[in-house]
Amino acid sequence: MTTGKAPSRPPARAGYQCEDCSHTSSRGFPGGRCPGCGSFRIRRLGEPAPVEPPPARRSFRLALLVALWLLLAWKIWNAWLALG
Ligand SMILES: [Zn+2]
Repeated sequence: MTTGKAPSRPPARAGYQCEDCSHTSSRGFPGGRCPGCGSFRIRRLGEPAPVEPPPARRSFRLALLVALWLLLAWKIWNAWLALG
């Protein structure tokens, strides 16, 4: 028989860990400082590695492309006016 049980998955290790003494806390360290050794090197757990944000660079390249096309159109327009 089938029960409506959710598929088992590993528990999310959300929290923070000190990189110097590997002290872990689920709610973060007070003042961003490890209570065990006083280190500020705190690492977040349970999150995927940060991926670089692509949209900003893409929009910048798109704006550059549009600007180049506008410049080209303006030059063609000027040349056409000079012909007439
Ligand atoms: Zn520590």
